Amino acid sequence: MVLDNLKTKYMTRNDCYTANRKITPKGIMVHSTATSGVMAGAWFSRWNKSFRAGEINRQVCVHAFLDDKEIWQYLPWNHRGWHAGGAANNTHIGFEICEPRGHSYRGSTMVNYDVKKNEAYFRAVWQNAVNLCVFLCKEYGLTEKDIIGHAEGHRQGIASNHADPNHWFPQHGESMDTFRTAVKKALEGNQQPNPSTSQKLYRVQIGAYSVKANAEAQLERAKKVGFTDAFIRYD
Ligand SMILES: [Zn+2]
Repeated sequence: MVLDNLKTKYMTRNDCYTANRKITPKGIMVHSTATSGVMAGAWFSRWNKSFRAGEINRQVCVHAFLDDKEIWQYLPWNHRGWHAGGAANNTHIGFEICEPRGHSYRGSTMVNYDVKKNEAYFRAVWQNAVNLCVFLCKEYGLTEKDIIGHAEGHRQGIASNHADPNHWFPQHGESMDTFRTAVKKALEGNQQPNPSTSQKLYRVQIGAYSVKANAEAQLERAKKVGFTDAFIRYD
């Protein structure tokens, strides 16, 4: 599976990157930034530095940020991240969902959050988050059951006391449960039918070639325009 809006640029100056500890991913933790209007690509310059000597006394790094358009991967997936503030760092890949422009915070409560205006943005980040989770589940043999939010991690005793993303999802009628359901559906939808066991398959053919390279070129074209399940069959 290919995520075509996934961009990778490691935060090599971040203390978490240089600490260079590895994990075997056993789960995924969902966060949101609690910062209004800072999109995924903009976090690179904010966090790609050492905080040891620094002006801000915090040590943070997460595997990825995503917004309504892009997913930016900032750590290798099997790098030990600093996102949970607890033992989940040893087991979980963490990603942050960027929040739209326009609201502020009182404690962990969103203030002046315009649900209607932000609905389209929310649906886009939701889809990107589902896609990323499907990608990671396939990569590491995980299921939707292995996905938790930061706040859920706290209740399980493996993360610090944060509310994300449960303070945000319900504004749009969603929750971590409906998120897991969406990932489950997407995982099922992504399964390739097994030709040897399927009863009937109606295949759509787009070409027949005597030269293998020509067939491969056509397959590439098909994939590029969105037929990601296309494949070559040799008769
Ligand atoms: Zn968090």
